[in-house]
Amino acid sequence: MLITGRKEKGIYINGKWLDAADGNTKGIINPATLELINEVSYGGKQEALEAISAAHASFPMWAKKTARERSRFLYKGYEKMIEKKEELAAILTAEQGKPLSEAMAEIESAASYLLWYAEEANRVYGEIIPSSKADKRLLVVPQPIGVIAAITPWNFPASMVTRKLAPALAAGCTVILKPASQTPLTAIAIVKIFDELGLPEGVLNLVTGDAREIAETLTDHPNVRLITFTGSTEVGRELMKKSAKHIKKLSLELGGHAPVIVMDDADLDLAAELTMASKFRNSGQTCICANRVFVQKGIADEFLNKLTAKVKTLKLGNGKDKETTMGPLIDQSALEKVKDHVEDARKKGAKIAIGGEQWNGPAEGYFYQPTVLVEVTDSMKVMNEETFGPVLPIQIFEEDEEAVEKANHIQYGLAAYVMTESTNRAFKIMEAMEYGIIGINDVFPGTAEAPFGGMKESGFGKEGGKEGINEFIEMKYVSIGIS
Ligand code: NAP
Repeated sequence: MLITGRKEKGIYINGKWLDAADGNTKGIINPATLELINEVSYGGKQEALEAISAAHASFPMWAKKTARERSRFLYKGYEKMIEKKEELAAILTAEQGKPLSEAMAEIESAASYLLWYAEEANRVYGEIIPSSKADKRLLVVPQPIGVIAAITPWNFPASMVTRKLAPALAAGCTVILKPASQTPLTAIAIVKIFDELGLPEGVLNLVTGDAREIAETLTDHPNVRLITFTGSTEVGRELMKKSAKHIKKLSLELGGHAPVIVMDDADLDLAAELTMASKFRNSGQTCICANRVFVQKGIADEFLNKLTAKVKTLKLGNGKDKETTMGPLIDQSALEKVKDHVEDARKKGAKIAIGGEQWNGPAEGYFYQPTVLVEVTDSMKVMNEETFGPVLPIQIFEEDEEAVEKANHIQYGLAAYVMTESTNRAFKIMEAMEYGIIGINDVFPGTAEAPFGGMKESGFGKEGGKEGINEFIEMKYVSIGIS
């Protein structure tokens, strides 16, 4: 239950909920109302060191548990999350801003990773290799990598956490979780579930606090064997450099700048519906959301009319109100970035098809109107940087190859979408796209049973699917001489 106006212990080490050693706290603000929700403990180096020590001490015990024993905790965690989904969704909406219906969908999705990895825990297989020598037997034995650190962003405060926790715990790793400082309350609520289920002390540790200090402590320590990070490409790059000292394994889920290619044979009602849903979900603060639309000449006007008609139906407001379909941005700097990108586009000649202004409705928060830009050129910021807000630039293309070239020219390679009724064209484009995730007439590709992850500067490593657990496993090769 979310109780506002109180102090929340956000540090959980060795099975104990703690304040920061120096008593520091950080206020958590509701981005829709600008009200203070809670004060949460704000730790740093000392707490990170204690968490590493706890996770290191509990690792041999957790690694030795049978897969079935570990699986049971994840399965119970899944059941508890579903049982508490309304409570968790309310916390998520209060600290992050997204509409309750989206928060509920996120909690269900987050729980589904616990279920999937409860099952996958039992399917981590090794190999016996046919030997070329008669007197040898060759084995490959999977083993958990050790203590892992998970650093997560604010835009999906529940699912970004379980996408890391679930496969790590399933594999037999022990965990230090550092959630985003704007949205620690959802992470605290998830960790409480595992605490109440009796997960052994030290297996899962939570450190809220100063990101730089905590990350430096984690990367500097030889006992942390892997960092799994979701967030911006800039921070991912920094973590990569710092991890070089101890040659730590990394899994990086970084920024995106997803293109949507709308071909002239697309079902335009569906294309407009999906493009709108992808762009304006979570107010455009989604790593895989539509960020650049390339629409084929000949259908461009019709597509734009259908799209803007749908965008007009969005209702901005506080996410806790039932009628709200789009919430605020996370904070003032996010709002400033959106304003800057729209202003830059406007100055360079873009036209506003809809929106284009900050929204000053009845709620106080960081709102920006859902915005569609046309007559957009390649030099505009919106075409090159992640806006991370409700702004959709549209460009027109003529030949299929031209659309692929435009989509690929960027350094990001997370998700891309194609709207077409032709399997032939869909396959050709899919194969030519430099993206880790491709949606064909689909803009919601994320699901627990499939491998999610980027290419190029969107990172490496997979979350979800049978691949997701492999990030946390090392394969030990054993050669046995026999006589
Ligand atoms: P961010 O600034 O990189 O922060 C992400 C996490 O890293 C937070 O926990 C943050 O802590 C921490 N952090 C900040 N500075 C750090 C540093 N110097 N060293 C170590 N950790 C540091 O990203 P964000 O603004 O929260 O999230 C938005 C970004 O995440 C976007 O680029 C989005 O595309 C990307 N994203 C990618 C995926 C994916 O699956 N590929 C999914 C979701 C989001 P504090 O909050 O305490 O600063």
